[in-house]
Amino acid sequence: MNKPLVALLTGAGISTDSGIPDYRGPNGVWRQDPEAEKLVTYDYYMDDPEIRRRSWQLHRSNRTLLAQPNAAHRAVAGLERSGTPVRVITQNVDGLHQLAGLPARKVLELHGTARSVICTKCAARGPMADALARVEAGEPDPPCLECGGILKAATVMFGERLDPVVVAEAMAITKACTVFIAVGSSLQVQPAAGLAAVAADHGARLIVVNAEPTPYDDRAHEVIREPIGTSLPALLSRLANSAS
Ligand code: ZN
Repeated sequence: MNKPLVALLTGAGISTDSGIPDYRGPNGVWRQDPEAEKLVTYDYYMDDPEIRRRSWQLHRSNRTLLAQPNAAHRAVAGLERSGTPVRVITQNVDGLHQLAGLPARKVLELHGTARSVICTKCAARGPMADALARVEAGEPDPPCLECGGILKAATVMFGERLDPVVVAEAMAITKACTVFIAVGSSLQVQPAAGLAAVAADHGARLIVVNAEPTPYDDRAHEVIREPIGTSLPALLSRLANSAS
């Protein structure tokens, strides 16, 4: 018998134990402060060098790059290492699944990654750390080294659309999986929310692990409200044992 394909959709809640606040959520800083929101809004960023200078300073003070994976990230990587096919679809930009040891090809980042920068003109990519070193060294708005274009974090800003290739792949995984676990996501933002419904429609076992109720709880086979750092490792080891 084929091993079940386990798909995990992960949101901000899986990374709060790593000290990363939920910037984009309903109580996130971008929603409370319109000036801060401009720093992550594409048109403002492209039109205003001062917004870009402030944005790079914000990246410098951002602790996301210093954060370490927690027990939940490690448990997901451990499940994959144990031989169970695992794919992660994440709303997070922190790269902690990969840092925990999950191969990058198994992770789909719906909102991009804060660990890289991308040129808005030629799409060249590079490490965020290198761009921040240039800011540190006196370039307040470092241009692309390939073409001189405007560089930005490789995260999806307000006013940008998600990468259609990534979204299509997330949809394909969701339709193909046997177990779909939504972890630390309020399931209120598209396309993440829709994926939970698609998984259930295609016969996957839907499991919701989230502190707060979600709109999909009544469609779930199992709803877990316990802290993610302990409940997800327990759930995944239960799945691994039942699959072997
Ligand atoms: Zn360029």
